[in-house]
Amino acid sequence: MIKKERKRPIILKKLEALDRRVPIHHTKKQIVTRELAKVEAGFRGEQALNYHLTFLPKKNYFILHDLRLRDKEKGFFQIDTVILTPKFHLVLEVKNIAGTLFFDQEFHQLIRTLPNESHTFPDPLLQIRRQKQQFQSWLAQNKFSDVPVISYVIISSPSSTIQTIPRHSHLLRNVIHSATLPLKVEELEKRYEHILYTTQEMNALSRKLIKMHIPYNPDILSLFQVCREDIIKGVYCENCLSYLIERVWGSWRCLNCKLISNKAHISALEDYFLLFGPNITNAELRSFLKIESESIAREILTAICDESLGVIRIGVISCLLVLSKYG
Ligand SMILES: [Zn+2]
Repeated sequence: MIKKERKRPIILKKLEALDRRVPIHHTKKQIVTRELAKVEAGFRGEQALNYHLTFLPKKNYFILHDLRLRDKEKGFFQIDTVILTPKFHLVLEVKNIAGTLFFDQEFHQLIRTLPNESHTFPDPLLQIRRQKQQFQSWLAQNKFSDVPVISYVIISSPSSTIQTIPRHSHLLRNVIHSATLPLKVEELEKRYEHILYTTQEMNALSRKLIKMHIPYNPDILSLFQVCREDIIKGVYCENCLSYLIERVWGSWRCLNCKLISNKAHISALEDYFLLFGPNITNAELRSFLKIESESIAREILTAICDESLGVIRIGVISCLLVLSKYG
């Protein structure tokens, strides 16, 4: 039973907005584009796991995706998927990395090799060890009963080959392909006999985890050290992504692909809120959408406000609700 769904995380929306609005020759452009591709691949890998989770027992298996919790001693920690069961809890870290994956346990790194390149990543085994400890300490801090916590690195790309040196092969029992997860769970069901959590306790734990989840929502401009002034202004065409667009009779016409849209400014304003925060004044809106008329700007603000049930404060609109649909 899924208790917390996986939504498209707000950091991904922020990266998309930033990538769209950082000029092509900007010094940070490549870094932003690369980070966006990495986070997008990670999200796709996590989504691919959903299918395999449907093979788990339905009864008394509570699945919570994408949790970010605060451990009182060590700060925030993030878990891709937690599965609560009456006998044990599972912590899953999903890696969507294709190629030959060599787990180097001497230097604690993961080396991925493709036909023409190789790349080094931080050691996922170290990562799940830390996550497991932090999850256990979170359970204790929040007065939940002690229970075996088992953590796995899930390799979501079925064609990846997993390797290490023979001396460390026993460490790889915690690295599995997504499709193997239901089998592993069957083994665990046999190995752990004692019921430690009632359904009521699992419900209480799952409610607490959802309540304590704090999404990762950084100020994306300061994170990538991009100046506000460098951001490309204007409405863009959703069809061809061109910024060559003009306002004609209450609509927007793309000069590149000729598409006419009466809602193109909504996506531009979403970018504004993702990049600059939830408040905008009439003057800021005119400058960002590149429109001159104060009354058109007011019309747009009022319409968004009605749609998002936001609050108008003398020309300033709070559009938190526009953003609340994300993770
Ligand atoms: Zn267009």
